[in-house]
Amino acid sequence: MLTSDFIQSAARSAGFDACGAVVLSALPDDVLRNFDEWIRRSYHAGMRYMERHPQKRADPRLLMKSGARTAVVTLFSYKPQRRQPPHLPQVSCYAYGIDYHEALKQKLWTLLAALQAEQPALRGRTLVDTAPLQERYWAAAAGLGWLGKNGMLISKELGSYTFIGVLLLSDEVESVAKPLKNRCGSCTRCVNACPAGAILDSGRVNARRCLSYRTVEKYSNPLQGDEASVAEDEKTATPRYVFGCDICQEACPWNERAKTAAHDEMQILPQLLTLTAADWLAMSAEEFDKIFEHSPIKRATLQGMKENVRATERAES
Ligand code: SF4
Ligand code: SF4
Repeated sequence: MLTSDFIQSAARSAGFDACGAVVLSALPDDVLRNFDEWIRRSYHAGMRYMERHPQKRADPRLLMKSGARTAVVTLFSYKPQRRQPPHLPQVSCYAYGIDYHEALKQKLWTLLAALQAEQPALRGRTLVDTAPLQERYWAAAAGLGWLGKNGMLISKELGSYTFIGVLLLSDEVESVAKPLKNRCGSCTRCVNACPAGAILDSGRVNARRCLSYRTVEKYSNPLQGDEASVAEDEKTATPRYVFGCDICQEACPWNERAKTAAHDEMQILPQLLTLTAADWLAMSAEEFDKIFEHSPIKRATLQGMKENVRATERAES
């Protein structure tokens, strides 16, 4: 059986900042009920894909045809070394570098290859935000942190500026994971800081209000019909963010003390240090495609980014 030490060492060699393994089971009823209620209340906004494959979400062992036994959960920090100047239209720092799907998938394949070199019959499936899996729940179950009031996974060492990559395995491995105590305590900094009133209770976020949905996801997963007009009513003044939002994370004390990532892939695109609102509004499709070819920002589309920039200008006027 692969040991926990071996897996953690292979994960570090593959470039991850933290790693834990957990033997898979069905999701606990209370976690499932919480998720179902979130969907029933349409807090997932236009992200209809979250309604799909409920059986697999409820029991991630079904995510591999032959049955997954273990989840090796990895964290990759994106806490930036350098931030955008504050007077510029702001981009969430998860999007400063290259698309995290690209960055993490390769590392997960490298990790799987290292585990298979030790145990050749082992089969695996790599997941980066692309399957019906409660990644944050499983990361907490793997002992990597706890779920904060803003729904983010909070690591004691890395804070919440982390991407989660998951490697499902066909076999059991040694798991020494002990879920950590929730250390939010009486803190409500993230709830108070959110400009959209999007943070509800028990770690739930209403995506219809959240700027991360309204500046990114809505362009690929829009609300339809009546829902769209209700969401218009829910709009609040849009602060300086034009792609994503870090406000609740900036407020979290665990991020102040978190280590800063030095990963090449997460270094800020030089253009994000200088692009003004006027530059964004004058940008051509060719320039956008060239600058953001490997960036998550392309998900919002150029038209979407211009709409977001205009919204911040309206809010400031
Ligand atoms: S990302 Fe921004 S809008 Fe969304 S919950 Fe956090 S502070 Fe609120
Ligand atoms: S700001 Fe406070 S309540 Fe929110 S996640 Fe961080 S520690 Fe928890």
